[in-house]
Amino acid sequence: MDTLTQAINVSPPDEQCAKARASWRTSSVRTSVRAVLGDMATGLGTCMYCGESRGTDIDHFEPIARNPLRTFDWLNHLLACSTCNSHQKRDQFPVDDAGDPLLIDPTAEDPFDHLLLTLSAGEYFPLSAKGEATIEVCGLNKRGLPKGRMHARKVVSSVLRDWDRARAGSRSDEMLEHVQTVRDQPFADVCQSMLRQALSPGADVLFSDFPDLLALLRKPELREALLR
Ligand SMILES: [Zn+2]
Repeated sequence: MDTLTQAINVSPPDEQCAKARASWRTSSVRTSVRAVLGDMATGLGTCMYCGESRGTDIDHFEPIARNPLRTFDWLNHLLACSTCNSHQKRDQFPVDDAGDPLLIDPTAEDPFDHLLLTLSAGEYFPLSAKGEATIEVCGLNKRGLPKGRMHARKVVSSVLRDWDRARAGSRSDEMLEHVQTVRDQPFADVCQSMLRQALSPGADVLFSDFPDLLALLRKPELREALLR
């Protein structure tokens, strides 16, 4: 990828974007990048933006149109569904007054430092300017995603209760199966949010609608299995 970047870099500045797009379209590197991203993605290879659909595209976090020299930068590649890549995020890349990116960069930052998932509504609440911009650009509270997250919360809760019953009966194979079921679910952010929020100072309020889940989510054995 360094060689491909060099070839773009030596092109005249006003031709670099076209050169980068042409190289990206024809390069076999895409296949390898796509395979590695698929292995890294949560669930069964879900989109790294919405967490719902299968990831089919490689998105350039910083768009090629803005920085052609990051076309073949590994840390600029994220697995995305076609809706997020081509219809939602597109070439948007907002920056603040100092010129710093306003989108959360998941290769360098923890999204949960900027976003709070309200478990009862399935909607994201911004904790920072980056959180606000990311919700808007990625449409995190649109396209039926909150409804999908609420459904995911119900499914995960049900499977975790099954895990607890298997644990009580010392059925370790069943416990592993339930953990894998949770791991394969879309909306992996829901389970991760539940685990994180269970240890937060306001957990009793956050889980007031699901009090039985709170004790379960705090069990070290379950946390270790799901956070591994
Ligand atoms: Zn998506």
